[in-house]
Amino acid sequence: MEAGVLALQGGFREHVTILRRLGANCREVKLPNDFDGLDCLVVPGGESTTIGKLAVEYGLIEPIVDFAGQNRPVWGTCAGAIFLSKLRGFNQPVLRLIDIEIKRNAFGRQVDSFEAEVMTTLPRTSGTWSSSGGGDTGVFPGVFIRAPRVVEAGPSVDVLGRLSTGEIVAARQKNLLVTVFHPELTDDHRFHEYFLGMMPD
Ligand code: GLN
Repeated sequence: MEAGVLALQGGFREHVTILRRLGANCREVKLPNDFDGLDCLVVPGGESTTIGKLAVEYGLIEPIVDFAGQNRPVWGTCAGAIFLSKLRGFNQPVLRLIDIEIKRNAFGRQVDSFEAEVMTTLPRTSGTWSSSGGGDTGVFPGVFIRAPRVVEAGPSVDVLGRLSTGEIVAARQKNLLVTVFHPELTDDHRFHEYFLGMMPD
C-alpha cells in the first residue's frame, strides 16, 4: 500500500510524517509519473490558488481526476478541501470532484486562525485507534487556519464532523474526504487512520 501527498506547496510534510508513523509507505507527489502504483492521495493545506495553478502547470489535473475516478481515496485538508470542491466567488483552478460548495476565508469576522472542538462521527475502521478517542463518536481538536466554509453539501455527502454551531467541517462522498481544519497539526491521528481505512480491500 502506497500513500501519496501532493507536494506542490503547503503543509505536505506533516501529512507524510503522520502517514509513515501509521505504517503506510508514503511518497511526495509532484509529477504525473508519481501516480504510478499509488493507492491514495492527500491534498494538503496551504494556498489553494497556488496549489491550483501549480497543478495546472505540472500537468497534474488530469492524473488527479483520473485517480479519483478510479475510486481511490483522495483527502483534501483546508486549501486541499477547496481544491476538491466547487468554489464560490473565486476564479481559480478547482476540481469540483465532491458535491460541496465552499467559500474561501469565510469564517466571517472570526480571527484568522482558531481552535475549536469538532464533533466527529468517524466510524471505526479496521485496526485500533493509536490516539485518543476509541469510541464511534467523539471530539476532535480542530485547528482552523484561514479556513474555508462549507456553504452547501449535496445529498450524497456524509457529514463526519461539525462545529458546535452545526457548521459542517468534515465530510465524505464515496472515496473523497474533506476537512476544512488541519488534523496534521495535532497529535490526534484518527482522521489519518480513517483515511487509510478508506482503501478498498
Ligand atoms: N486560506 C487558504 C486558501 O484559501 C487556505 C488556508 C489553509 O489551507 N490553511 O487557500
